[in-house]
Amino acid sequence: MSLFDTHIMVDWSGGNDTGAKPRKDAIWICEAGQEPVYLRNRVLVEDWLNTRISAAVDAGERLCIGFDFAFGYPDGFCETVTGHKDPLALWAWLEERMKDAPEANSRFDIGAEINQLFDGIGPFWGNGLKRDIEGLPRKGNDRTGRAMPERRHVETLARGAFAVWQLSGAGAVGGQVLTGLPVLSRLRRQFAEHVSVWPFEKLDSSIAFVEIWPSLISAEIAEQATDPIKDAGQVRVIANVVARLDQADKLQTVLDSVPEESRREGWILGVGAEDIFRAAATARPDRLPSNCFALPPGVDWTPVDEALNLLHAAMRPVVAQEECPIADCGGRVLAEDICAVRSHPPAPNSAVDGYGFHLDEVSGKTVILPLMKGRSAAGVPFDSAVPNGQAVQVLTGAILPDGVNTVALQEDTVVSGNHITIQGPIKPGANTRDAGEDVRAGEVVLPKGRRMNGCDVGLLSAVGCDFAKVFGRLRIRVISTGDELRSPGEVAADHQVYDANGPMLARMAKNWGYEVSTVRVGDDRTAMRQAFTEAANETDAILTSGGASSGAEDHVSALLAEEGHISSWRVALKPGRPLALGQWQGVPIFGLPGNPVAAFVCAALFARPALSVMAGGAWLEPQGFWVPSGFAKRKKDGRREYLRARIAEDGRAEVFASEGSGRISGLSWATGLVELPHEGITVEPGDLVRFIPFASFDQ
Ligand code: AMP
Ligand code: MG
Repeated sequence: MSLFDTHIMVDWSGGNDTGAKPRKDAIWICEAGQEPVYLRNRVLVEDWLNTRISAAVDAGERLCIGFDFAFGYPDGFCETVTGHKDPLALWAWLEERMKDAPEANSRFDIGAEINQLFDGIGPFWGNGLKRDIEGLPRKGNDRTGRAMPERRHVETLARGAFAVWQLSGAGAVGGQVLTGLPVLSRLRRQFAEHVSVWPFEKLDSSIAFVEIWPSLISAEIAEQATDPIKDAGQVRVIANVVARLDQADKLQTVLDSVPEESRREGWILGVGAEDIFRAAATARPDRLPSNCFALPPGVDWTPVDEALNLLHAAMRPVVAQEECPIADCGGRVLAEDICAVRSHPPAPNSAVDGYGFHLDEVSGKTVILPLMKGRSAAGVPFDSAVPNGQAVQVLTGAILPDGVNTVALQEDTVVSGNHITIQGPIKPGANTRDAGEDVRAGEVVLPKGRRMNGCDVGLLSAVGCDFAKVFGRLRIRVISTGDELRSPGEVAADHQVYDANGPMLARMAKNWGYEVSTVRVGDDRTAMRQAFTEAANETDAILTSGGASSGAEDHVSALLAEEGHISSWRVALKPGRPLALGQWQGVPIFGLPGNPVAAFVCAALFARPALSVMAGGAWLEPQGFWVPSGFAKRKKDGRREYLRARIAEDGRAEVFASEGSGRISGLSWATGLVELPHEGITVEPGDLVRFIPFASFDQ
């Protein structure tokens, strides 16, 4: 189970106010799964953190907040300055002295003041001001006797990390430490029982401050960051990486990788556990935020449309991108807009078999023209020009030779000797196709997010594409739950039933374009926990059926409530109760009902559009048609209903004899669903009802 609900990373800056317009080398904050936030100065940052931490404390939310500056100094420093070994004593010491305003701060004077406490010049250097400051050299080499090691132990391992003593200059971290620690110290006092500082304290409260160093995964950041401003991309990637680490249950191991003797100096998250850290960095992109299925509190029965809107808002792509040859693109989702490499058709050509010539205006009469030798065929163009007043044979798809703007249909012509007689009337341009009349080179032919069908693949090939950037296939685990279930081929006693949902849901998810695997588990907490964990490690989304309500054997909802994140969605829908939406280690679980018809309806209505977004595609709205009803029904207010239906020979929608949600045969009898609105209505034969063909669900 993850240690934190939310992971927030802060890219600090020790400089002055950076102005209203977002820019680099400023302070950026990013919450995993959200957009980076630009803050122009530290006063605003402190406000932001205050508000965010307060909200988390009120909501019982666990926050991991990372800062990209050292939390401590080489061993012995703190004791010399404060008289105490506890590194947090230095935080308080600095808090008391640092004067920090958006346009100026006293970091250089503090550096000089601290230098006085050491033999020789002291460790700090890098006066970045115009005025000289006594005791703070401008250059590192001017320090005669710095009385402190140059680096913390962790910085000797983190190659390329700057030493904490340098207070100005490109990449210098010293100024960030002096301006950062006072802010953290204040926040820590403010939220005294709620904040722990790693690795100085045990992380036994709900908010943790940790030290990060984005350069640890600089290669991965360079590869994954797409924000135009580098700092924004950097905090975004590292926030998502830390969240992923946690969701994969690896954060504890990383936090524990601090040598005991270095604890008081502070440590960089991930150093000493680089393999684990980098593995999270190179893994697939962001998982969904852990609280994404939360329903507004106090909601009782949520109307279907509202539930769909909430689900839609919570979804985002979770798959990586890859290059795919056009021929294999069917069923794949485009990761970028595709532009035509060349025009279609590339050159003017003939739409028919016939004879080409030049025509200026509509000709009503019969024309006789000398016929040139040779012809223009598809793939074999005529290699000379056709003079005005002459004709040449052209076949379908052949390039129009120079001088030809019109083609007479073969059937409207008579060839005699070296002349041709063309039967009018005929218009200039007849039977020809212009270059680019279908698609012009450079035009967008298919948009990002499109799941490609056979026609799309044909189009891409026609306009000269050979590869397309597509999203990786979403991996789905279908889990059937229930002690009573048997798989096809197994012997089943009367108290046992064959697993219908597993094969049905697996086939549906394959039709949706995903890689699907199935398992079956009994009503057993341990087995289910293991199945969820395996699925979360191996796949992107989980579809379960059964065990989703609140009965004694409903282990799916119980387990998610206890150890995952769950929202039991009481959707006002028939058939469809109960639908449980939850997450296991960051992987969404669609807890579908056990009754096959309800499982089908919930999968088609909720899982299909949501998975499509996770796979990089669009939120899918099923397409329905209004048709006359062939049945009568009175429906009460307060829930939407779906009836198994088909279009009878008279063009009316007839419905299956039973509405029992266990009667799976009705799904095969039907060719679609009739959707009846949330409100109460009375349907009479002949009234228009909305019919959604099964083809709309790609089921
Ligand atoms: P549950 O939600 O687990 O209480 O299941 C509700 C009903 O659906 C029970 O009658 C189950 O036997 C049935 N059911 C659950 N899972 C399946 C399945 N995979 N295939 C067929 N029926 C199922
Ligand atoms: Mg069950």
